[in-house]
Amino acid sequence: MAMIDDPGGDQFYKEVGVVYVSPSSGKKYYTPCVSFSIKHVLGMVFDSIDHAFSFYKRYDMIFVPFTGVDNHNRNITLGAAILGNETAEMYKWLLRSYVKVFGFAPLVIVTDQDAAMRRAVEDVLPTSHHRLCMWHIWDKLTSKVGSTLCNTTDFKKRLARIVWTNAITPAEFEKEWHAILSDFDLTAHSWLIEIYKIREDWIPAYYRGENLSGLMRTTSRSESENNFFSQFFNPESTLFEFIGHFEAAMECQRYQHRKNDHETRYFTPDIWSSFILEKQAAKIFTRAIFLDQLLEIDHAINLCASVMFREEDVTISCCCNRFEQYGLLCRHIFYILRLGEIREFPTKYVLTRWSREAVPNNSNSEFISYGVSDSNSVNVEAIIREIRMDNEYNLNRLVANKEEMCRYRDHVKGYKTKADEILIANPPPSRKEKFKS
Ligand SMILES: [Zn+2]
Repeated sequence: MAMIDDPGGDQFYKEVGVVYVSPSSGKKYYTPCVSFSIKHVLGMVFDSIDHAFSFYKRYDMIFVPFTGVDNHNRNITLGAAILGNETAEMYKWLLRSYVKVFGFAPLVIVTDQDAAMRRAVEDVLPTSHHRLCMWHIWDKLTSKVGSTLCNTTDFKKRLARIVWTNAITPAEFEKEWHAILSDFDLTAHSWLIEIYKIREDWIPAYYRGENLSGLMRTTSRSESENNFFSQFFNPESTLFEFIGHFEAAMECQRYQHRKNDHETRYFTPDIWSSFILEKQAAKIFTRAIFLDQLLEIDHAINLCASVMFREEDVTISCCCNRFEQYGLLCRHIFYILRLGEIREFPTKYVLTRWSREAVPNNSNSEFISYGVSDSNSVNVEAIIREIRMDNEYNLNRLVANKEEMCRYRDHVKGYKTKADEILIANPPPSRKEKFKS
């Protein structure tokens, strides 16, 4: 690989398959036809066309972030990969790696429409519910059916009413879908036929009964994740720059999470009512989730839904399915709990994922696993996460009992002598040794 003097300015390098012949050796150099988006390497030349293409191919990579929802109901990046290709084999490797790191398969996985990804999910995550991202499908609608139809008629509005809701049954969805397509003479539209065939994978009416299905229904999740990363990335970055930008993006996300944790910890809620469950909710949930529950409690003034309540063990369910879909109690249930004079927030309806303890403090801090081989480091990090979470959990429960808290402190401190002995027996490698390896 060699650099040559710029023989004709930028435009020269934008041309297809430029060949330069070295005046001294007569050797030919090539620059392949590549997208202008990777112009940062357009000035490079290679001693064979294969070499040139293989170099550019290295940049033909796919960024795959895994996005989850944190206990403040915000998007959070659980992990990310840069893949060399989009084959089913590559995705299978990626999903296996995910399961290895987290120790379990996700309950629900939402992806865009991709045949290779579909095969990989079926193979590696057979127990996970695989859904297609509504945002990605909906985003294509105007370009597929035409902007005139979407902008000058109520076609899109009518379709949105049955797509963006989990309040209708599959039969109601199907009836209205056919009526809309018939009204606009679209019954033979190939793309609409195609997305109708896979309706069970992306239309909420089909999975409204599934646990926490509401969390992935919102279009804003995918959209805001795309916007978030686009603030940090640009297609002209080198791989090295890209990694730096990714780390900056993650630090920004961690900062926001710490800020939300801090606000939750020092948040003094406005108690709106004398309802005891409201005060308890303030201690259980993060700030964002408490505000949601506060609104539901505030609206619990009349019963407009069908609620089933068994007083003996405080088992309660509502036909609006809010708890099933979002993991949060609805106003109808709060109405019944208030009426039944329930004094304790029913713990079986508190999901850890929305609680203050869902993510331990300092979980973002980096752990350096000296002397731990790569194959073991994943397990070690999982154990560390577990210890941190248990520790946080214990502290949050002991905080009201000073005596017990002191006993716990002594118990942890007592282990320090043993930890020191282990460190003396197995000292970590020096920085020099680390870099040598
Ligand atoms: Zn309800």
